Amino acid sequence: MPNVRFLIDGTLVDGESNMPVVNPATGAPFATAPRASPAQVERAVAAAVQAHPDWSGRPLAERRAVLLRIADIIDANRDELTRLLTMEQGKPLAEAGFEVMICAMMCRIVAGLDLPGVLLEDNDNRRVDAYRRSLGVVAVITPWNVPLAMFANKVPAALLAGNTVVLKPAGTTPLSSLRLGELIVDAVPPGVVNVIADANDLGDLLTAHPNIRKISFTGSTATGRRVMASAAPTLKRLTLELGGNDAGIVLDDASPATVAPLIFQSAFANSGQICAAVKRLYVHESIYDDLVTRLTELASAAIVGDGLAADTQFGPVQNKAQFERVKALIEDGRAHGTVLTGGVVSDSAGYFIRPTIVRDITDGTRLVDEEQFGPVLPVIKFSDVQDVIRRVNSSAYGLGGSVWSSDRLRAAEIARQLECGTVWVNKHLDLDPHIPFGGAKSSGIGVEFAEEGLHEFTQLQIINVAK
Ligand code: ADP
Repeated sequence: MPNVRFLIDGTLVDGESNMPVVNPATGAPFATAPRASPAQVERAVAAAVQAHPDWSGRPLAERRAVLLRIADIIDANRDELTRLLTMEQGKPLAEAGFEVMICAMMCRIVAGLDLPGVLLEDNDNRRVDAYRRSLGVVAVITPWNVPLAMFANKVPAALLAGNTVVLKPAGTTPLSSLRLGELIVDAVPPGVVNVIADANDLGDLLTAHPNIRKISFTGSTATGRRVMASAAPTLKRLTLELGGNDAGIVLDDASPATVAPLIFQSAFANSGQICAAVKRLYVHESIYDDLVTRLTELASAAIVGDGLAADTQFGPVQNKAQFERVKALIEDGRAHGTVLTGGVVSDSAGYFIRPTIVRDITDGTRLVDEEQFGPVLPVIKFSDVQDVIRRVNSSAYGLGGSVWSSDRLRAAEIARQLECGTVWVNKHLDLDPHIPFGGAKSSGIGVEFAEEGLHEFTQLQIINVAK
């Protein structure tokens, strides 16, 4: 049983209290995590404040070197982090290993980015340069679906830009982030990265804190609204990666045999617990029955189980509250449509739900209109493309979307009409650190990845010199 500690000011410290961490595959606690008191949050913020002038003043090359050291440490401890991630989050070992690998990769990719000053004007009257300054202390608040990928999306960019960080993972998945904090204790100057954990009760302290300059948050839209409200009095910079209800639109000329496995994976990867998974599938009436049948076959054949087992393809839902919510949405699907396969695995104490396909359902039901964030996919029949575009766009969410067709140009034309941050054609969930990613409407504010994502951790400063 791991006994992890906080990283505060370059020192590993116990929590003022502890909390159990449940393995979602068993429904039982398997470890204890430290739980921060408000005073410990204050200490972490104070350490980050103190570390900022030195860290931001270092040459970029030194900050890059620290990111590369973190990457090497992650690689050297890949097996331990992978196993810990599977045990607290539930995902299969192969996926957890991929997430750990991504984490190291992102540190290296971000270390390769640059923040050059830009000469805007130089003439007889003036010279004007634009620089990117660090913001100060960044609070990184992450969710429970991909804890280490979230570290990867946020922490390296925050650090490269010269900020110091207080990282707070979700209360149900604190261990992998805390362990990573322990592992990098000697690689990062004191106070530059601080890692604490709470029982989902101290986020507000961070978002309202006068000494924190930016919140980089990934989580639900409801919590995102609270973060924004709480950050308003101090006018914090915000990057909010929030919920999604991504639609896939399958046109009449798509090949059901080709698209079925791709859509299935895009809907059920990580047991559907991905912000930009396919969450509602609109299929043209001419191929509806065929595609539904193929998706149902894939769902029936899926191997669901403990992520530690070698053949598991899909792990449990991560926590009890989400398990109950997905169960309720499946019941809604049963009331308003036809549940073809899947449902709760009743002979286990773990939070297992098999990939579930619901047909004969339409907009206006909870399962279609709300974000399920779990392994159940509603498949909706449509006949008119313009009508389906309108229905897809009527959602308050606008994270991702996809159009599936054997005619790429036709699909791309439809893609341009969807109100979301990313639209894929003949694929979904193709995330790439070199391509900015962010949500429209209630799916968020700002982007992550690439130069645009790095810029969100900076303040643009203009230096305008008279001649
Ligand atoms: P869920 O509702 O699925 O548990 P959340 O979006 O609430 O997910 O959680 C994402 C992250 O936000 C977690 O780290 C959680 O502890 C944190 N959090 C929860 N409530 C707040 C809040 N009021 N302010 C800031 N962060 C919060």
